[in-house]
Amino acid sequence: MSQRYVFPFGGDGAVEGKPDKSLLGGKGAGLAEMSQLGIPVPPGFTISTEICRFYQQNDGNYPAGLEDEVAQNLARVEREHGKTFGNGKDPLLVSVRSGAPVSMPGMMDTILNLGLNDEIIEEAIAAGADSRFLCDCYRRLLSMYGDVVLKVPHSEFEKVLEETRDRQGVETDAELSSDALLEVISAYKAKIAEHGKPFPTDPKEQLWGAITAVFESWDNRRAREYRRLQGLSNDMGTAVNVQVMVFGNRGDDCATGVAFSRNPATGEKGIFGEYLINAQGEDVVAGIRTPQSITPEAENGGMSGQFAPAYRILEDVCRKLEKERRDMQDVEFTVDGGRLYMLQTRNGKRTGFAAVRIAVDMVDEGLIESSEAVLRVEPEQLSQLLAPVFDLDQKKEAIDRGDRVAEGLPAGPGAASGRIALSAERAAEMATEGSVILVRAETSPEDIVGMHAAAGILTARGGMTSHAAVVARGLGKPCVVGAGSLRVDEEANEIRVDDRVLREGDEVSIDGSTGEVLAGSLVARESEVLQVLMEGREETPVSKAFTRLLDWADDLRRLDVRTNADTPADAKVARAFGAEGIGLCRTEHMFFDEERIGWVRQAIVAANQEERERALEHLLPMQQSDFEGIFEAMAALPVTVRLLDPPLHEFLPKGERAIAELASQMGMEAGQLADVVDRLSETNPMLGHRGCRLGLTAPDIYVMQVEAIARAAVNLARRGIDVKPEIMVPLVGSKTEMEKLRSMIEETLTRVLSQEDSELAIPIGTMIEVPRAALVADQIATYADFFSFGTNDLTQMTFGFSRDDVGSFLPRYIADGILPDDPFASIDVDGVGQLVRLAVARGRESRSNIKLGVCGEHGGDPRSVEFFDGVGLDYVSCSPYRVPIARLAAARAQQS
Ligand code: ADP
Ligand code: MG
Ligand code: MG
Repeated sequence: MSQRYVFPFGGDGAVEGKPDKSLLGGKGAGLAEMSQLGIPVPPGFTISTEICRFYQQNDGNYPAGLEDEVAQNLARVEREHGKTFGNGKDPLLVSVRSGAPVSMPGMMDTILNLGLNDEIIEEAIAAGADSRFLCDCYRRLLSMYGDVVLKVPHSEFEKVLEETRDRQGVETDAELSSDALLEVISAYKAKIAEHGKPFPTDPKEQLWGAITAVFESWDNRRAREYRRLQGLSNDMGTAVNVQVMVFGNRGDDCATGVAFSRNPATGEKGIFGEYLINAQGEDVVAGIRTPQSITPEAENGGMSGQFAPAYRILEDVCRKLEKERRDMQDVEFTVDGGRLYMLQTRNGKRTGFAAVRIAVDMVDEGLIESSEAVLRVEPEQLSQLLAPVFDLDQKKEAIDRGDRVAEGLPAGPGAASGRIALSAERAAEMATEGSVILVRAETSPEDIVGMHAAAGILTARGGMTSHAAVVARGLGKPCVVGAGSLRVDEEANEIRVDDRVLREGDEVSIDGSTGEVLAGSLVARESEVLQVLMEGREETPVSKAFTRLLDWADDLRRLDVRTNADTPADAKVARAFGAEGIGLCRTEHMFFDEERIGWVRQAIVAANQEERERALEHLLPMQQSDFEGIFEAMAALPVTVRLLDPPLHEFLPKGERAIAELASQMGMEAGQLADVVDRLSETNPMLGHRGCRLGLTAPDIYVMQVEAIARAAVNLARRGIDVKPEIMVPLVGSKTEMEKLRSMIEETLTRVLSQEDSELAIPIGTMIEVPRAALVADQIATYADFFSFGTNDLTQMTFGFSRDDVGSFLPRYIADGILPDDPFASIDVDGVGQLVRLAVARGRESRSNIKLGVCGEHGGDPRSVEFFDGVGLDYVSCSPYRVPIARLAAARAQQS
C-alpha cells in the first residue's frame, strides 16, 4: 500500500507507537491509545485528517485507494466481531463519528446505527432478533441520517416522537413498543421523502453518505464560528471514525453514560458522571430523561449498585488512563448486556477551581512535575478562585422572603446577578448595558456568542455534562443547569416558575456553586481564597492548592511581579497576593480627596507665587502621610511613585453653576474663576498640558510631591522601617525634559535629605509612554535610573487611537479581522512591541544596569506577560487582583 489513510483500532488491530493526534484526531487517537492499553473498545478504524484536507482541496473527491482501504478495514472488523455489515440475519451496525485534533464538543456530526433497512429488519426479526430493539435502532438511524446527511430539520423528527409518546400515553421513548416504533419509522421515512432525497437502503451507500457528511461538517457554519472564537486553525481538518456499535438501548442491563476521572467543578478525587439506563449516547445530552449520578454516594448507590462489575472496570479504566495520559479524563462509555465498552477519552474541561486542585494533587500523586502543574492551569482561570460569592446572610434573607425560585445543578461555580436575557442575541445586546444572565431551556452551539456575553448561564434542562455546563466551565462562568421547575417561554418573553413570572430584563441571581436560582439581585462577597489570604480564615483545600501552585510558579519565573496601587489598602491586598513592590503609585487620586481638593484648586488658580506656595504647604503634610501609609504597607519592597500626570483643568469644575459655587467658596469672582478654567481647557487634553510638561512649567507641584516622598521615607526609616521609594516622571519624550526634571528632583531631594541628615538613595526614572521616548531611549537613559513602560498611553499614541473613543469602531475592527484583538487588552507585539524592544535595547546601551518594567494594563495580561518576559524586562506591574495571574503567567513564559 503506497499511502496509508486508514488506521485500525480495537480488538487485535491497534496501531503501534504513540498515536498521532494531528492525523487521527483526538477521538481516534484516544481510541487507539485505549486499545493499546487493553481497555475494551469496540473495534473500528479511523480515516485520517489528511483525507479531510484532500476532500476540501479536490472538490469533494477522495484519493484513489481510499475505498479499498476502507473495505479491507471493514472486513477486519467484521471478522473480529463475527457479524457482517449489511447482512440480514445478523447485521453488523456501525457508527460514523467526527473527531478533530482538538476537541470541538458538539460542533460536528456523528451518525449511529448505520447498516439497517426494511429488509434487514424483517430478516433479522424472522431470524429471532429482538424486534423492539432493532426498531429503536432503525428509527434513531433514520432521524440522525435524515438530519445530518439529508438536512431534514431535527425538530421534525422530535415532533413525530412527541406525538407518538402522547398517543401512546408514555413519558419516554424507552417505553415505546415495537409497534409504536414501526409507526415512528414510517412517519420518519415520509418526512424524509417530503424533503427530497429518500433514505438510501444500501448500507454501503449509507456508510459513505455518513463519512462524507462528517467531512463536510468540518466546514459548517457553527464549527467555523467555534474555531474563530477559540482561535483554532481551519486547516487541521477532522478525522472520521467508523466503529462497531455496542448497545446501551438493548434492555435494563444496558446503559450509556459520560464520566470524569475527577470532579470537573471542584477537582475532588473520584469518578464523577452520569448515566442513563436503556438508552443510546445522544439521549444523555438530549435532556428528555434526566440522567442518574454514577458515584456510589448517589441516592440509588449509583452505578456501583446496579452495574457493579462494569463500574469496577470503569474505575480501573479511569485510573489506567490518568496514569497513561497524566491528566484528568472525560470519557464516554456504554454498558451492553452488563459489559463495559469505552467509546471516547479526552482530557477533561474543568473550572479554575478544579484545574488548580487537580494540578496540585497530580504532583502529590507523582503523575506530573511541579513545572508541569504550572502549565496545567491557564492564568486567567485563577480569577475564578478569586471571584465573589454571594453574601450568605443576604442570601438567607432572600430565601426567607421566598425569592429562591428554583434549584438546579451546580455546573459552574461562582455567583452572578444580572438581567434575564432569553436568547443569545438578546444577551449579547443587553450585555453592553450591564450584567446579563442568559436563561435558556437548554443551550446549543448556536448560543455560543450569547454565552460569551453573559455573566452567568441558567438552563431548565440538561445535566452536569450538558452543552451549557461544559461550555460555561470552559469559559469560567457561573452556571446552573437543569433547573427543572423553570418554564422558559421565549415567545412570550418570560419564565414561569410555579405561579411566579419573571420577564426578560428582570433581575435574577444564580449560585453556580450550589445550584440555587434567586429572583432579584444579590450582593456578592469575597471568595474562600480571598478570605484565607486576607482575613486569616483557616486554610481550605482550595486555598492550600492555590498557594502551593503559586509557590511553584515563583520558583520558576524570572520576571518580578509588582502591583499598581494608590492606597495602603490596595497595597495590602496586592501583598497578600504576592506582589513584590509597587510599580505604579498614582498621585492624582490623592488630590481628589474631599479635604484636599479645595487646596488643590487654590494652588491651581493662585494669583501669585505666594498664594500657590501657601496652598501647596497645606497639601504637603497630607501627601506625606499618604506616602507613609503606602511605604509602610510595602515595607522592604520598592514603591514607584509617579508624579502628577493629568491636566490641571481636570481638578476644576465644569459648567456655570459649579464654577459660581466654587468661586464663592474660594472668595473670588465667578468671572475670574471662569477665566482660569477657560485658560486651562484644551482641545486634546490627552495630548496637552499634562505629565512632565506640567512639571516643567509649574514646578512647584512636583517639588512639593518630591518633598513629601522624601520626608515620608525619612520618617519611616527613623522608625526602623525599610523604605525603598522610587520617583517616576510621566510622559517624557525628550532627553532635555528628563535632564531638567532630574536636576530639579535631585535638588529637592538633596535639600530635604541633608536637612534631615539622611543618606537614603532614591532612584529617579521615567515612564516610556510617548513613542518618541522609545526612539530616543538611549538619550533619556543617561538621566533615568529606570524605565517603566506605560503601555496604555504608548498603545494609544502608537495607534493614534483615543482609548476613550475606541468603542465606536474597535468592536467592528475585531469582528472584521482588521485587528486580531483589542490592543489595549493584549499588547500589539508587531507595532507597540517593536517600540518596547527598541527602548529596551537603547536604554541598556547607554545604561547597562537600567531597571526595566511595565505598568500598563498589559502587565496583568498573560499573553503580554509572555512578551515582556521574552524582551527581558525585569518586572511587570498590574492591578492587585491580577498579581496571582501575572505570577503564573510569568512562570509559564519561562516554560515555553
Ligand atoms: P461527539 O463528538 O459529539 O461526542 P461522538 O462521536 O462521541 O460524538 O458520539 C456521540 C455518542 O454516540 C457517544 O458518546 C456514544 O454514546 C454514541 N456512540 C458513538 N459511537 C458508538 C458506538 N460505536 N457504539 C455505541 N455508541 C456509540
Ligand atoms: Mg463524544
Ligand atoms: Mg500614562
